[in-house]
Amino acid sequence: MTATLLLTDPLFLQHDPGHGHPESPARLQRILGVLARAPVEGTVMGVPRSATDAELAAVHTPELLAYLKRLSGHEAQIDPDTQVSPDSVDAARLAAGASIKAVEEVMAGRARNAFALVRPPGHHAEPGRAMGFCLFNNVAIAAEAGRRLGAERVLILDWDVHHGNGTQESFYSRRDVLYQSVHQFPYYPGTGAAPEVGVGEGEGYTVNVGLPGGNSDADYGMIFEELFLPMAEAYRPQLILVSAGFDPHQNDPIGGMEVTERGFAAMCASMRSLAERVCGGRLVLLLEGGYSLEGLSQSVHACIEVLAGRGDSFPSGTTHADAKQALIASRDALRPYWSVL
Ligand SMILES: [Zn+2]
Repeated sequence: MTATLLLTDPLFLQHDPGHGHPESPARLQRILGVLARAPVEGTVMGVPRSATDAELAAVHTPELLAYLKRLSGHEAQIDPDTQVSPDSVDAARLAAGASIKAVEEVMAGRARNAFALVRPPGHHAEPGRAMGFCLFNNVAIAAEAGRRLGAERVLILDWDVHHGNGTQESFYSRRDVLYQSVHQFPYYPGTGAAPEVGVGEGEGYTVNVGLPGGNSDADYGMIFEELFLPMAEAYRPQLILVSAGFDPHQNDPIGGMEVTERGFAAMCASMRSLAERVCGGRLVLLLEGGYSLEGLSQSVHACIEVLAGRGDSFPSGTTHADAKQALIASRDALRPYWSVL
């Protein structure tokens, strides 16, 4: 059987948003340290390539691409949260390219599934604006690559604690990409309310579950089992991408959730088995947020074990009433479009 492909590169450590910034090179360093100490059988490390201008332009405006090109080689402040160092734009271009390569390898059957261990993250980057620690929208760029490679329907599942406003915007009026997000709400960046379900052709193909905070593995399990998975089964994606942010971790200094390593492993396992049922296992995880170095690195390691074949299920536990309420609000918003709900 083919292996789980892990893509990373030393250039990702050269993106330095400044001293004390939570999205620090130490995040990826810690992940790589854990993997070096406890390698996962059934995985191979691969070398990414940079995204081309055309691949970036599938998602981003010429103005944004020109603006970021001008910042290459310089230090600059894009917004209060988003800084670049001289290597940042090159790192971001390589992060987008790693995401594309992961899709290429999985679509071609050369990898069982893949995890792109990249920074900077991507899901806040809008077609025309870099923001929220993100320069290029890696997952949106990867979805476009998957479409070009013949995937007629692509599922993007986003479990980062923040709403992926940039990803939502990229596909809001389209049904060839189904976007499902569970996140803290109201919270940064402000989007992601349940009634945001898409427009035009894309109406019903954006799914937002906004949780108030303090939610557990069991809450996430309920949302997966009662909303995300039934919709995804009915959609029959030909490629599944995960915006894998680990800031819902219980120790995360930014997020306000109570998810554990076991919860992340269970979310990953449910995506792996969905992929195996509906699309020949074609599943790619892309690293987004996650700011507890220990929580992040242990959770990433647990997900890699799952990608390589370990089974996992959501720990039993009681769900919270506010999570149930959020689930009902989202399901009610989507019900007009989905007979399975
Ligand atoms: Zn986040």
